[in-house]
Amino acid sequence: MKRRELLKGMAAISASPILTSYALEGNLILGKHDALIVVDVQNDFLPGGSLAVSDGDAVIPVINNCMKLSQAKGLPIYATRDWHPTDHCSFVENGGTWPEHCVAGSTGAQFSEDLALPNNVTIINKGTDKDKEAYSGFQDTDLSDQLHKKGIKRVIVGGLATDYCVLNTVYDALTNDLDVVLLTHAIRAVNVNPRDGERAIESMIERGAEIHDGLILAN
Ligand SMILES: [Zn+2]
Repeated sequence: MKRRELLKGMAAISASPILTSYALEGNLILGKHDALIVVDVQNDFLPGGSLAVSDGDAVIPVINNCMKLSQAKGLPIYATRDWHPTDHCSFVENGGTWPEHCVAGSTGAQFSEDLALPNNVTIINKGTDKDKEAYSGFQDTDLSDQLHKKGIKRVIVGGLATDYCVLNTVYDALTNDLDVVLLTHAIRAVNVNPRDGERAIESMIERGAEIHDGLILAN
């Protein structure tokens, strides 16, 4: 399906389950220039956490499967995480908009125990400067350099949350000349406003991301 038709279809239909019906057809075949970026699957963003994303844990089995296939293919896996100082500007008590979350070294900042990160995963810490918000895994990190040095041309992205850190990570990947496949079955939104997640997906598509919710084949 052409991207324009896809957008037209999405604009006409506002119910969220429809989004996945517009995913590009066929299996996603992983190639040697692909890398997987797992965004912020941390305890504070999961049910029970201080900034829990509704149904956030649903992304874990899908991402685990992607990691297994990526590993089998020898593709690099990057896991981003919010890694904030206690006086971070994004926290309500410091004048920001979010409850305290993902304080460096805390249990809330740890990746979910259910997330099967391989030993050779590359962890990308972000939001480490108290004066700067960092939704994107590319912001003030060397993620772009690392990807380009490895000859990566396309990143496969899943994680939390669709309307903030996934959105901005995808934007920056595109800005950094990478193709992007967004795994729509491996993301969940905060939805401060009810359609934020859908709008985020539409916006990522508009900027050039492909979306996918089907099987991933490793060869
Ligand atoms: Zn944060």
